[in-house]
Amino acid sequence: MSTDRYGFWYPQVDYTKCIKCGICVKVCPIIGEKIKNTNFEKPKVFAAWSLDEEIREYSTSGGVFSELAKDILNKSGCVVGARYNEQNLVEHYVVDDISDLPMIRQSKYIQSFTGDVFKQVRAKLKQDKIVGFCGTPCQVAGLLSFLKGSPSNLYTFDFVCRGINSPKAYSKYLEMLEKQYGSKVRKVWFKNKTFGWNRFSTRVDFENGDVYIKDRNTDLFMRGYIEQNLYMRSCCFDCHYKTFPRNADITLGDFWGISRYDSNLDQDLGTSLVMLNSEKGEKLFGNIKDDIYSEESSMEIALPGNACIVENAVKNPKSERFLLMLDKCSFDKSFKMFVKGGGILKIYNKYVRLVFSFLNRMLRFIKGTCNE
Ligand SMILES: Cc1cc2nc3c(=O)[nH]c(=O)nc-3n(C[C@H](O)[C@H](O)[C@H](O)COP(=O)(O)OP(=O)(O)OC[C@H]3O[C@@H](n4cnc5c(N)ncnc54)[C@H](O)[C@@H]3O)c2cc1C
Repeated sequence: MSTDRYGFWYPQVDYTKCIKCGICVKVCPIIGEKIKNTNFEKPKVFAAWSLDEEIREYSTSGGVFSELAKDILNKSGCVVGARYNEQNLVEHYVVDDISDLPMIRQSKYIQSFTGDVFKQVRAKLKQDKIVGFCGTPCQVAGLLSFLKGSPSNLYTFDFVCRGINSPKAYSKYLEMLEKQYGSKVRKVWFKNKTFGWNRFSTRVDFENGDVYIKDRNTDLFMRGYIEQNLYMRSCCFDCHYKTFPRNADITLGDFWGISRYDSNLDQDLGTSLVMLNSEKGEKLFGNIKDDIYSEESSMEIALPGNACIVENAVKNPKSERFLLMLDKCSFDKSFKMFVKGGGILKIYNKYVRLVFSFLNRMLRFIKGTCNE
């Protein structure tokens, strides 16, 4: 794999060693033959969360991933997910012991390096171990293509995926924070729930004990990701996996907007959207029913709050230029250059909304008094 100018990894063929067997093309889930599955066209949908308060707090959504992982690990299986390495970059890692599960918990919004993890999965499956694999929908498709199907001892989980960001943008963001705080980053925690699940924040802990924490509207990295689509990988804007039937046995996500249907299902602590895509997935989800709270829902309820289930984000035309600018300027300087007035506009919108809601309440109050 080599890194392009924008910070994304791409496979490179060493033609001095290539024997032209064509297997790399055959197993590529995009240019090779598409993998076929017999999964449900209409997944079974649930709103759910872990009954273990610590797991729920430390997870991105409702912590259902950790409960599924626990079930597999308790049966002497292994679970594969994304962890931070020593440089705070993200890589896939095989967990065999339940005490290591926290390493692969939580969403990391950067491309995860899979290395030789597919080979490790194949070896574990051959040893008849139960394997749980969690990754982006395209990583799951890649694994299934590599394995030529889904053996009965493999459970695959993917998530509703907005898209993955450039490791280069993320490294420059951490570099900016390290400069501001005068210390090395110790831990990154996206979608931290200090201000609640709905107003999720980014928390970064430093070696000198300082803590940075800003919510989704003020943290520059999250703004560049969610509001600006500024540094996502190009192929994520033309994702082939936002369709049904999905490849993974279970798809996880945030059940955004569930409070519109039932306010009891949003305690602002994280509610998972669970889509059961296969009988295998249904069975595994059944195994954890005593460890979670769950209520059946529907795709009609899930879709309005979570367009990313089926829709692609729209590419920011300045994306490539922004990523190249990072070679010359710091993250915050580049951000200011490319997202002019964004901050001011946001604050302006917020106050206009507050004034309108105040006027509305006043009007309702006056009307009420008149009626009396
Ligand atoms: C890049 C990305 C984009 C997402 N976009 C959306 C979205 O638009 N809408 C939505 O509802 N949900 C989205 N999610 C999913 C959501 O953030 C939660 O991961 C999911 O709901 C599971 O949460 P949990 O509480 O059950 O468990 P968590 O413990 O939070 O589970 C996270 C799981 O995802 C794996 N993972 C984390 N980061 C990566 C990564 N970079 N690459 C591959 N695997 C990873 C972990 O290993 C773990 O298995 C996204 C997640 C990621 C990583």
